[in-house]
Amino acid sequence: MTTPDYRVWFLTGSQGLYGEDTLRQVAEQSRQIATALGERLAVEVVWQPVLTDAQAIRRVMLEANSDDACIGVIAWMHTFSPAKMWIAGLDALRKPLVHLHTQANLELPWASIDMDFMNLNQAAHGDREFGYIQARLGVPRKTVFGHATDPSVATRIDAWTRAATGAAQLRTLKLARFGDNMRDVAVTEGDKVEAQLRFGVSVNTYGVNDLVAAVDAVEDARVSELVKEYDGSYRVAAELRPGGERHDSLRYAARIELGLRDFLTAGGFGAFTTNFEDLGGLRQLPGLAVQRLMADGYGFGGEGDWKTSVLLRTLKTAAAGRPGGTSFMEDYTYHLAPGNELALGAHMLEICPSIAAGTPSCEIHPLSIGGREDPVRLVFDAQPGPALVVGLADMGDRFRLVANEIDVVPPPQPLPKLPVARAVWRPRPDLRTSAEAWLTAGAPHHTVYSAAVDVEILADLAEMTGVELLVIDAGTDLRAFAKEIRWNQVYYRLAGGLR
Ligand code: MN
Repeated sequence: MTTPDYRVWFLTGSQGLYGEDTLRQVAEQSRQIATALGERLAVEVVWQPVLTDAQAIRRVMLEANSDDACIGVIAWMHTFSPAKMWIAGLDALRKPLVHLHTQANLELPWASIDMDFMNLNQAAHGDREFGYIQARLGVPRKTVFGHATDPSVATRIDAWTRAATGAAQLRTLKLARFGDNMRDVAVTEGDKVEAQLRFGVSVNTYGVNDLVAAVDAVEDARVSELVKEYDGSYRVAAELRPGGERHDSLRYAARIELGLRDFLTAGGFGAFTTNFEDLGGLRQLPGLAVQRLMADGYGFGGEGDWKTSVLLRTLKTAAAGRPGGTSFMEDYTYHLAPGNELALGAHMLEICPSIAAGTPSCEIHPLSIGGREDPVRLVFDAQPGPALVVGLADMGDRFRLVANEIDVVPPPQPLPKLPVARAVWRPRPDLRTSAEAWLTAGAPHHTVYSAAVDVEILADLAEMTGVELLVIDAGTDLRAFAKEIRWNQVYYRLAGGLR
């Protein structure tokens, strides 16, 4: 899926006190830093003229708000920029903000340093003044310290631009639900009006037979073309190949993919859900189709789970261009062998092949759930390595993100009787702590699994969207985690105010 031509703006703060010559050097140096950063980020950095008064600051913030291509602003106080000048601008800003605390020179010129140098290079206190006003106004932001040549500076701002890209996509995202939630399931429910207010995403339901009509309308020639593509991309089982006795099932799976794609494209949807309890005239549960659409960047949630679908689309957007895949996932079952406790994640069918180790095989097997013809699906193991799982729950008065860092491992033994895509992992810090923390937080069984997105990106996204984030990692202590939940309960209720 194509992503728009996003940019971040680079704002430099100063004041008129220093005279033209100093301001010219401020402009020159900040432009160099913006250029150096731009070379290391996935989005373009647009340098803006140095800001020296309240009117210009307010105006640039309003322009940033109204420019759809601008996904956030980087601010640096090269010199001292008295921060009352920033009040109106920061109060008006509705885009993500990162405060870059840096300076032009790496080392102090000890032998030649004089008061002119001190005048020009005083971010050490100029940025403290800016930090104060941001804290006083309660402006959501990220603070990044370091010289432009320090790789951690670009890495941390890159995480922020990725979160901002995800947040920007989320503001205009449209999600199509085919059918409602699986009956009686609690955690996949949620407040769609609140989601649209907080995130921007629009979530609407369509009759599944609207999709069936699109599937039935697909021309046979397109089906034949797509089946050829499958043959080039996967190890297709002999019974599904042309001439094989179940080739028609593969053709119908391809027809579902094309119909689904047509429906989503026509409506401008970036995410969708299905529900096996509501398949209308569909002959198979969409397995292969869902897997391939996820691989193309679409968000997906099973059983009507629109929140996980929204999160998947957002994190796939944030991850664009990074190594490692991102998928819909579900904690399914445990290996409780003492000393080697593992979780096995899978779904009925719908795991994204972007996380696969090796070439997936395309197979057909019975599925007891759904009551339709046997569905075609891709079968594979996930690529071993560090990853995370993250769930989004609606707590009634707010949304809560819970993330767990995990280490994906090869399955300890082959799984010859399990014909679905799956991932086996060791949660950090260990399965017991992870599971107890996850349940204490009320986090969902459906998650987004990603080897491309890290906790820093999630934390930046949570800050931008005002959403609670709880992290389970190597340092998690259960008692501290439970206290954090209790304190958050108070904070988010107070921060939400009376409505
Ligand atoms: Mn499920």
